[in-house]
Order: sequence, then structure tokens, then C-alpha cells
Amino acid sequence: MARYKRFTFLCDPDERRILAALAKRLERSQSDSVRWLIRNAAAELQPAGSCVVCGMPAGDRGACPEHLQMLERIELEAERKNAQEGSHARQA
Ligand SMILES: [Zn+2]
Repeated sequence: MARYKRFTFLCDPDERRILAALAKRLERSQSDSVRWLIRNAAAELQPAGSCVVCGMPAGDRGACPEHLQMLERIELEAERKNAQEGSHARQA
């Protein structure tokens, strides 16, 4: 899966402990556990068949036509960036 932007946030010691405990229970890294939480929370809040971005009807594609294009562009950019990073790594 493409990873293309860093996002940091402040948490208190309780939230940090909860995240560590969740990661242990999920047998994932803490970063991956945050991703799991975001995706599951979004899926929980989103009615089935609606766009993940705007909530408009989206059938079984997960996003309305406009946002499907946007998400595909983001995916392509991430793939390009990963390919570039891969070629830089080979040159180094
Ligand atoms: Zn949409």
C-alpha cells in the first residue's frame, strides 16, 4: 500500500498506552494500528455504498466518480514517488 505523507499528532500518556496495548493486541506496529483505527472508524461511520470522501452514493466502487478519479491520481502519484525512491535507492 502507498504511504506518501507523514502526519503527527499530540497524545496524552493514557492515549499512548492505549495505542501500545491496541498494537500488541492487533499484532501490528503502532503506526499500522492507527491506520487500522482510521479505516475501521471511517467504515463504521460510512453507510454502505457511499463515497468515502463525500458520502454521496458510490455503488460498490467506494467513491463517487469525482473522488474515484482523485483517489486514483493520488495512488498514481504515490506509485511514481515510490518508483523514484526505488531508483534512487538502487543508485546509492
Ligand atoms: Zn465523493
